[in-house]
Amino acid sequence: MNPNSNGHTNENRHARGNGVTDIPESKQPSSKTIVDFVPSEYDDLVVPGQGKLEGMTFTSNDQIEAAVQTILHEIGEDPQREGLRNTPSRVAKMYAELTAGYRVDPAAMINDAIFTVDYDEMVMVKDIDFTSLCEHHMLPFMGRVHVAYIPNGKVIGLSKIPRIVEMFARRLQVQERMTVQIADLIDAALQPLGVAVVAEGVHMCSVMRGVKKANAKMITSAMRGVFRSDPKTRAEFMGHVDRAHDHE
Ligand SMILES: [Zn+2]
Repeated sequence: MNPNSNGHTNENRHARGNGVTDIPESKQPSSKTIVDFVPSEYDDLVVPGQGKLEGMTFTSNDQIEAAVQTILHEIGEDPQREGLRNTPSRVAKMYAELTAGYRVDPAAMINDAIFTVDYDEMVMVKDIDFTSLCEHHMLPFMGRVHVAYIPNGKVIGLSKIPRIVEMFARRLQVQERMTVQIADLIDAALQPLGVAVVAEGVHMCSVMRGVKKANAKMITSAMRGVFRSDPKTRAEFMGHVDRAHDHE
C-alpha cells in the first residue's frame, strides 16, 4: 500500500484543473457553495443534472443481449431452454444498473449539500458498504470504505459521502482507482485541510477462481493534505478505522 503510487500528490492538485470555482469569502452565501466540478474522463456519459441513482431506469440493450446469448451458447449451454430464455435481457438490464455510476452528475449530487461552517476537527464516516465490479473480470468485489476529512471552512452533508462512494463503485473499477476517485472528489469539492479514504474489499475473481484466497482482503488508501503530511493525523484516522473492526 503506497499512497504515493497514484501520482496525485497534494502539491499538484491545483494544477490538475479540477474545475473548482473559488468563490471569494465575501460573496459566499452563508449555507451554500456552488461547485463546478469536472471529474473524469467519463464526462460524456454523465446525465447533466442527474444527481442520484434512485429513480434511474435500467433498460435492456440488443447488443448486450446478443453478446450474452453468444456466451451462453459458447460455454455449451442451450440459450433457448426455459431457465435461460430471459437471461440475456436480465443481464443487459443488470449491467445498466451496476454501471449506472457513470451517468451520475457529481456536481448535481453535491451542489446543494456543501455548507460553510467554522469547524476544523476531523469528520469521519466509517463502514460504508460498497459493491462494485472489477474491470479485469467483471466479477463483483465488495467491502467497506472509511472516509475522513478535516474541513477548511466547508463541510458536505453526511449522507452525500456514501452516495459518492456508490457513484464510483457502480462502474467497472479497480479498487485502487475507486479509492483515489472518492478522495479526489471530496478534495476538489471542499478543498479541505486533508482527506483520507481507506477501502477494504474482497474480490470474487480471487475467491472463485485461480488461487481461491477466499478471505484475502485488499486494502487501499488515498491520503491528501494533512493526512499525508502529518503522521499524527493519519494515525488518529487509522485508529478509528481499526476500532471499526473491533465491533466485528
Ligand atoms: Zn478481477
